[in-house]
Amino acid sequence: MRMNNIYKPVVDIIKKGKRFLVASHAHPDGDGIGSTIALAKGIEHFGKEAVMFNADEIPYNLKYLPYSGDVVSKIGANDKFDAVFMVDCSQRDRIGGDVAKMPREQMGKIVLIDHHMVDNPECDLLCIDADAAATGEVVCRIFKAAKIKYTKETANLLFTTFVVDTGSFRYSNTSSALLKEAAELIDAGANPWAISMALDESNPPSSIKLLEFVLQTFELLFSGKVGALVLSQQMLIESGAPVDVAEEFINYPRSILGVEVAILFRQLKSDKWKVSFRSKHDVDVRKIAAVFQGGGHAHAAGCTIEGDLAVVKTKIFDEVQKHLGT
Ligand code: AMP
Ligand code: MN
Ligand code: MN
Repeated sequence: MRMNNIYKPVVDIIKKGKRFLVASHAHPDGDGIGSTIALAKGIEHFGKEAVMFNADEIPYNLKYLPYSGDVVSKIGANDKFDAVFMVDCSQRDRIGGDVAKMPREQMGKIVLIDHHMVDNPECDLLCIDADAAATGEVVCRIFKAAKIKYTKETANLLFTTFVVDTGSFRYSNTSSALLKEAAELIDAGANPWAISMALDESNPPSSIKLLEFVLQTFELLFSGKVGALVLSQQMLIESGAPVDVAEEFINYPRSILGVEVAILFRQLKSDKWKVSFRSKHDVDVRKIAAVFQGGGHAHAAGCTIEGDLAVVKTKIFDEVQKHLGT
């Protein structure tokens, strides 16, 4: 594993430039947004300007994050940057919006800050640690390399990235190094209970209605090795729940004994589906998602696929079956 050497070039770029853009994937999660804001605050520590971007609105349960109201969803047509930091995301089209359309010469250097493996990176600098539990852990290492002390705000932002991407320190990516870093963040002012309250204990009543609809779609396939759920636009309308409350629904099929792969089909538009995968043991769901131009990690991955639900399901289940082994 490479340590400090991947972080110093990032610090050099920050020190040399004046104005930066920090952006993460659309439909953001706590790691994407927490890392975006924390890195921007790290850049500001050096007296530089950092514009924070996300194409979509901040999910309601992440609005507690410090400075989340300063994240913008528009970039001026002539805005120029010395570098663009893409965090928790390696493809410009997954960032979407104005950043996906921005002329290359206005972007300066493109720097990837991530914990996902990347197949064909289009960038000037890679700062990727596939062993990191969250992109926030990579941002912690950048803070260390730049000798930036955590504030109460950055500590809470970064602790949130850990909580979200490790399932509250339960998944296989929970390392002793991460827990040591988490302890430092608490010493600097991170408040685990306040973060959990905001993330998981603040759902609207309509979330129960949505869960009721989604659980009715539960199906078990391939001798109980695959469990799947569907979340349609109609269910969102009928329940009145914001889609963000469904972030953890995929854990229900995964929680069943014998299920190796859990799948959630989420309708984005009439015939466009976001497919999320979770696996327990040996199935590498990143490989399954990659077949449909998606990505992620061995145990958590996703892709977007167009078509009628029945056709989409058949395509996905056929591919999943190939990876189940005997
Ligand atoms: P999700 O199912 O959206 O929670 O995503 C699980 C993991 O897969 C996360 O690490 C995502 O960043 C990644 N992922 C989800 N969708 C895509 C996609 N379309 N392309 C690449 N990676 C994805
Ligand atoms: Mn993410
Ligand atoms: Mn992440």
